Amino acid sequence: MSAIRGVKGMNDVLPDEMARWHALESAFRRKMHLASFGEVRTPLVESTSLFVRAIGEATDVVEKEMFTFSRHDEQMSLRPEGTAGAVRAYVEHGMQNKEPLTRWYYIGQMFRAERPQRGRYRQFWQAGAEIIGDPGPACDAEMIDTLVSFLDELQIPGIKVHINTIGGKETRQRYRDTVVAALTPKIDALSEDSKRRLTTNPLRILDSKNPADQEAVLSVPPITDVLAPEDAAHFDALKKHLEALGTPFVVDPKLVRGLDYYTRTLFEIKGAEEKLGAGSTLVGGGRYDGMLKDLGGPDVPAIGFAAGMERLLIASERDVPETRAQVFVLPLGEAGTRKGLVLSRALRNAGIAADLDGRGTSLKSLLRRANGQGARFAIVLGDSEVQSGNLQVKDLAAHEQHEVTEADLVAFIGAKLASGPAVLAEKGGAP
Ligand code: AMP
Repeated sequence: MSAIRGVKGMNDVLPDEMARWHALESAFRRKMHLASFGEVRTPLVESTSLFVRAIGEATDVVEKEMFTFSRHDEQMSLRPEGTAGAVRAYVEHGMQNKEPLTRWYYIGQMFRAERPQRGRYRQFWQAGAEIIGDPGPACDAEMIDTLVSFLDELQIPGIKVHINTIGGKETRQRYRDTVVAALTPKIDALSEDSKRRLTTNPLRILDSKNPADQEAVLSVPPITDVLAPEDAAHFDALKKHLEALGTPFVVDPKLVRGLDYYTRTLFEIKGAEEKLGAGSTLVGGGRYDGMLKDLGGPDVPAIGFAAGMERLLIASERDVPETRAQVFVLPLGEAGTRKGLVLSRALRNAGIAADLDGRGTSLKSLLRRANGQGARFAIVLGDSEVQSGNLQVKDLAAHEQHEVTEADLVAFIGAKLASGPAVLAEKGGAP
């Protein structure tokens, strides 16, 4: 019978990769807590209509990439991104009545029915955050700067911040008309997707990767031509704040991003292009001042970002050691196994990681496994050790053997571990 395989583009993460995941998650949580963000956890499934209204019907994500299903006449989708759910929760819990300013972060799986490739999956993890209630631009700069310092901490090479403004709702509409007017005469030169987008979502043509589209787009005037004075002032202030912070950035007038909800500030952060490819972004974000009202909530401004965690892990050059059991307990025979159960529990209760291998195989293969796993100590429990209560503790790092009474075992190992060197029990995990 053929084995059942996982769904394409949905990956398992096995324990030997987990040290890097945990380190990434805790680095992110720490950064967020230091900047006064609280964690929010929203469901993986929301009403399809939430995503249609928040993200926009004519976006790739909603049009082609959602996993949607119905139960009892209710149409639901696996979340393709985190902002819509966070905003829905903000509105539903009346957060605007509880606090004037909300800072939330999240870590979780997102789902998009894309064609899987390196750094692009159908289930992937995002670490993201939202600031709701602050019109910026200071918090826009703060968010970008916090992200840059997070990416630096992960030792991601070649970090590049791209920023742009898409203006407020009116500017966006005006610019849409400008793009349509400039590209309509060139419609024959556009890709099939962009021909369609000319009526459904013309701004998306600007960041098309298709060479013919890129050629045609050269004739589109920059957004600065139609920017309202307040939008221009917002963008200028953002740039000045970033300069004051010493956060390098480039203005990228073609940056529009895939989701419909953005207003004013847009940004993307790229890095580790040699590993990820030039087109691949690590973080995408922007302001969405109109979304809360559109979803039936208060008229409050907001900004957010999402970072792809698989991509961060591909890009990160930080070495994260893999933690292993410090003590291997190796019983030989039944009496030894029972003693092994008791001793491993005592070690674990004292905060010492212990692995009990009770399979009853040969001493040689048990010791080989203990060495291979990088354990610092091995305790062999044969009949004579059990009877006498005198244990032989092998220090695998120092190549020594100590006789220790059963009663002294936990204190002995605890003291040895606390006194430092001769470390093993950590396996250097290359990124
Ligand atoms: P977006 O929500 O499309 O703005 O994406 C934000 C970030 O999430 C991107 O910069 C990527 O790092 C990551 N991301 C988006 N889609 C995927 C995917 N299909 N697989 C892996 N990561 C993704």
